[in-house]
Amino acid sequence: MDFAVNFKLMAKKNLLGYTKPQMNSLMVSLGEKPFRGRQLFKWLYHTRQYDFSLMTDLSKGLRDRLADDYEIRGMELERRARSTDGTEKFLFRLEDGHPVETVLIPEEDRRAVCVSAQAGCALACCFCATGTMGLVRNLTVGEIIGQLVFLRELYGSDCFSNVVFMGMGEPLLNFDNVVDVIRIISDSVGLGVSARKVTISTCGISPEIRRLADSGLKTRLAVSLNAATQEKRIRIMPIARTYNLENLMKALRYYTGRTGFRVTFEYILFEGFNDTVEDIDALSQLVRGIPCKINILAYNPVPGFAFKRPSDDKVDWFGRQMYPRAPAVTVRKPRGLDIGAACGQLAGRIDK
Ligand code: SF4
Repeated sequence: MDFAVNFKLMAKKNLLGYTKPQMNSLMVSLGEKPFRGRQLFKWLYHTRQYDFSLMTDLSKGLRDRLADDYEIRGMELERRARSTDGTEKFLFRLEDGHPVETVLIPEEDRRAVCVSAQAGCALACCFCATGTMGLVRNLTVGEIIGQLVFLRELYGSDCFSNVVFMGMGEPLLNFDNVVDVIRIISDSVGLGVSARKVTISTCGISPEIRRLADSGLKTRLAVSLNAATQEKRIRIMPIARTYNLENLMKALRYYTGRTGFRVTFEYILFEGFNDTVEDIDALSQLVRGIPCKINILAYNPVPGFAFKRPSDDKVDWFGRQMYPRAPAVTVRKPRGLDIGAACGQLAGRIDK
């Protein structure tokens, strides 16, 4: 099937992004039984059949009516780039012209795909290229799931094992759409990837962390922490003015208590800013009593930003010092640095 975007056909409604309940309602509106919605949902997300005429368990009349008014329209790829380490970055152009990026990261034991939840971002973290764009808008369910559907068309259904909401934007500020996407991802007749293999990474939207805890989703949570005191955090993450560290840690205690899941703290090391013995003490103190893992990673330089990347030795030293003082500590290697695909580098363009 030709999965390319055809703007001439855009008068038809795009079914990409419809949830199972929406498919069921659609079928009822067409005078069909609701279970037909599940069949259509399975064809789209599980079987990857986008041609209505080949959806053989639907009646010929229904297939014709669907083809008259609906289509399944994928994302428009503008450019892609591959890193020397195998990481691939995809730049998509949304129908209103805005760019979003997706990163596919093959590792030894898993293949993670890093998806975007917003075009741009309002939170303006001082170390992040996306933050300089400002918020354009939330992505729709179709635009988020479309990033994953595109990769499966390119590389097959098994091309990723894990999904991380760590691309452009703050996923918890697009809560309802992100939750709908996760329900499609984790449905056995959807993408069939367990919610446990999906991670939402947030900069710390406390009320939405509580909402996630109450949602019943089995999704994992990562928090981009990067500083262990309110005074330091506020200097690099303006959102800390709205949800201060104390407020955030209370929400995380609620989350871990309610779900039984541990939380992952992402701690980006900036040379001379948050990499001292005092920072280690503050970080150990902060996470005490919280079931958690700490991921330490070196800052990935972004042109025009003042922060510097610490030496590999400094990163190792920090990791070794933290190791006995937290339940679990890992030092993460940057991926896709040479193509601007590493954490904090997504700026809506591919330069090479
Ligand atoms: S780190 Fe995340 S929340 Fe902060 S500006 Fe970048 S995309 Fe937005």
